Amino acid sequence: MHNSCLIGIVIYLCANYQSKSVYNKMDNQNYKLATRLIHAGVEPDPSTGAIMTPIYQTSTYVQAAPGDHKGYEYARTQNPTRTALQNALASIENAKYGLCFGSGMAATDAVLKLLQPGDEVIVSNDLYGGTYRIMTKVFAHYGIKFSFISMQNAGDIEGYITSKTRMLWIETPTNPLLNIIDIAACAQIAHAHNMILVCDNTFASPYLQNPIDLGTDIVLHSATKYLGGHSDVVHGCLLLNDPTLEERLRFMQNSCGAVPGPHDCWLVLRGIKTLHIRMQRHCENGEAVAKYLEQHPKVAKVYWAGFPHHPNHDIAKKQMRGFGGMISFTLKDDSIEAAMSVLTRTKLFSLAESLGGVESLIGHPATMTHGSIPREERIKNGLSDSLIRLSVGIEDADDLIADLATALV
Ligand SMILES: *Cc1c(COP(=O)(O)O)cnc(C)c1O
Repeated sequence: MHNSCLIGIVIYLCANYQSKSVYNKMDNQNYKLATRLIHAGVEPDPSTGAIMTPIYQTSTYVQAAPGDHKGYEYARTQNPTRTALQNALASIENAKYGLCFGSGMAATDAVLKLLQPGDEVIVSNDLYGGTYRIMTKVFAHYGIKFSFISMQNAGDIEGYITSKTRMLWIETPTNPLLNIIDIAACAQIAHAHNMILVCDNTFASPYLQNPIDLGTDIVLHSATKYLGGHSDVVHGCLLLNDPTLEERLRFMQNSCGAVPGPHDCWLVLRGIKTLHIRMQRHCENGEAVAKYLEQHPKVAKVYWAGFPHHPNHDIAKKQMRGFGGMISFTLKDDSIEAAMSVLTRTKLFSLAESLGGVESLIGHPATMTHGSIPREERIKNGLSDSLIRLSVGIEDADDLIADLATALV
């Protein structure tokens, strides 16, 4: 077959798929989340019609002549599997642009590289241990100053802003105390002072909350958690609307090179197709477990934003569509030993770091995820010795409660 004939057929196939496609990111803004989770960003493979995005396991792309290529030159810069995922993730967060990274921390690293020596950042004090670590142990050495403060009352933030403050960094619900921060109020404060608002939306996922709609500039996810959803991939992403910020972050993605491989992108693409179904069950099971723990005689306090007595329950109701599957609780015997006896006796809740997978996990922030925070600082921020964190999975709720009952005797 002549080359020109072959090219003609390929162009015809591409055009044909494009014209019939409802999958294109630009076309699907009117579709609801459940539809976008399945269709956004993905197109049938133009060369075979494969409905699932292929894993383009390649490092480079052949060019007809120097510069004459199909938009792909080298796989650190672009990969079609990654492009599909970036467009899908942007769509489900109601954002224009998506950028994927090798982990949530790699995404965090890229955002912090927007800063210059001398710049200041205000950060919520109850946050992911690794985020605290990269700020205090890596970026502080480059002359960037971080203030960790309570943001339960967003109005308190204003008192910490100086002429050098460039960024406001929030996580809500927070990890592990499930505090709620008012995203819209933070956006107002950030923009009044020319600051970039970054929101780590890992705990809520786009199913429960869309920070872009509330004025956030950059949404960050550890896709390792609910987006991937099956505890089989480490991945991170950034979602945003501003073209200048997107260009700077895309530059970081390519020049620093912390990009995910195509197989990992494919796993996240596959994971998000069931996000809505999984999150619905995470929410139902989370509620059942929180209510069980709340009345248990050995339990001192349950942290879950769905309780009307949660300090920011009203803000949670305003900005979230449900309360999720993350729950923390303390014991009346507030000791590491008491926590250990619970942690080692559950059978269905596996003792492990991480969260957001279909299976239930139990963890001890003081010695695990938040082990890198000094004890004094940890206790000051309310992370007591007996604090136990649950990532409630999508198993049967009665079985999960029975498992906790056995461990809490
Ligand atoms: C896990 C997590 C991160 C870091 O993501 P990795 O994928 O582990 O690098 C950041 N923020 C939150 C809230 C997390 O739970």
